[in-house]
Amino acid sequence: MRILIVEDESDMARLISRNLGRMGFVCDVAPYLAHAFEALRSHPYELMLLDRRLPDGDGMEAIPSIRALRPGVRIIVVSAIDAPAEKVKGLDGGADDYVSKPFDPEELGARVRARLRLPIGETPPPIRAGALSLDVLHRQVSLNGSPFLLHKREFDLLAELLTHVNCVVSRTTLFDAVYGFDDARQDCAFDSLISRLRKRLLEADAMVEIHLVRGRGYILMEMH
Ligand code: CA
Repeated sequence: MRILIVEDESDMARLISRNLGRMGFVCDVAPYLAHAFEALRSHPYELMLLDRRLPDGDGMEAIPSIRALRPGVRIIVVSAIDAPAEKVKGLDGGADDYVSKPFDPEELGARVRARLRLPIGETPPPIRAGALSLDVLHRQVSLNGSPFLLHKREFDLLAELLTHVNCVVSRTTLFDAVYGFDDARQDCAFDSLISRLRKRLLEADAMVEIHLVRGRGYILMEMH
């Protein structure tokens, strides 16, 4: 799952992104509201962390425009402005949560997980293909009912392919699912990630195969 961190203090942004990264989320950082809108237009983020005092405005005042652009995104305001009246204003103004700075990184992580579990609707059923089953919310893949352990990037890649099983997924979409803005995006690293995952699926008898569709991307297909 991909999170957008709107934060102009680079140390703070790095701290948050490292922590959430360790919990398995891909994080992008936008230091300005203008960057945040650009990022929101290009990717359907599940959640965003929104600072208030930003160089080009108060994050909280941008919430209506964010909602208009991406109605489903969960918004957690993270701010040093912690007067109760401001929190009330934030929550009434459309934020899903309001966390005061300084915060405990573990608590912020827990709030992020909690927000992502509080779906609009119910918990989605697992996605099944071949012998695999993907639990999107808990970020788990099972193979014939037992946990199938993968490295983070292998998981992100497989999850994106499973979400679109039997459909072609473009290389750019897969790149976006696996790497954040700041990660080095190397074609050869991506190619070897694909071949590692292919090998793991084959060795595990997962009954799915990743195929290259030239000029279009990749497709995960069930084997019969
Ligand atoms: Ca700030």
